[in-house]
Amino acid sequence: MRTTNSLSELKSVRAGMNGTFGLVPTMGALHAGHASLIQRARAECRNVGVSIFVNPAQFSQEEDLSNYPRPIERDLDFLHDLGVDVVWVPTVETMYPPGFQTWVTVEEMGAPLEGKCRPGHFRGVATVVAKLLNSFTPDRAYFGQKDAQQVVVLKRMVRDLNFPVELVVCPTVRESDGLALSSRNVYLDPAQRQAATVLYKALSAAQKKYECGERDAEVLRETMRSVVKSERLAEQQYVSAADPETLCELKEVGGTVLLSLAVKIGRARLIDNFLI
Ligand code: AMP
Repeated sequence: MRTTNSLSELKSVRAGMNGTFGLVPTMGALHAGHASLIQRARAECRNVGVSIFVNPAQFSQEEDLSNYPRPIERDLDFLHDLGVDVVWVPTVETMYPPGFQTWVTVEEMGAPLEGKCRPGHFRGVATVVAKLLNSFTPDRAYFGQKDAQQVVVLKRMVRDLNFPVELVVCPTVRESDGLALSSRNVYLDPAQRQAATVLYKALSAAQKKYECGERDAEVLRETMRSVVKSERLAEQQYVSAADPETLCELKEVGGTVLLSLAVKIGRARLIDNFLI
């Protein structure tokens, strides 16, 4: 496994590779959710690259940038064991050199939900992913359904800017009690960890209503709201029952629906979703 901070070294390693290349962008603090993306890439591509970059541009001022976990040695061992070929760990100065001023904004899909709670978040995500795609030139790039809005934003960007890459979306990996794996779960103390199952419970309750024939989207949202409200340690940020492509809130569910929510528990801000 080749590991580098340097863009020119990455490019020369990449130039020496034959066959398909799969990229898995990450912010590190790797867990089984990341591993599932890497294993999928490993199964589908001759070469696999991973980036580890805690992207300051996608954190707002009040967010957890400085505390974000960065266990780099452990992460590199983890990637080595998964058979990754090349790891790029750019510095902030490499990614955003002095004078940097070119940003990618996916206007409509980046605005609601996470975009509303975290202004500028998707501008940071789209810009860094555009740079990663230009730097690695992958045939395929792998993302988790866990970050559903991110997938919608990036699919739009790839289409709008003609990036020659296929985006592959992988299912959310969960703990046995339903909690989606996240690097931010380490912020939870035992009581908060228990409370964090409320996201999965809320989504499951709305899904059950849907399966029983409920098609009024407001009823599905209200179902999620009331489950979140029943958990004392949970502070709801939003609940949504939206069109999976436009992310517009639905009145009536016709075809598929993206149920999603964001909840604060202690200092962890957690998100989850079901696509049904
Ligand atoms: P992050 O390091 O949080 O930026 O995540 C890197 C990639 O891993 C993103 O595409 C995430 O959607 C994906 N990911 C994070 N958590 C999970 C999970 N529990 N299951 C599947 N994919 C995940």
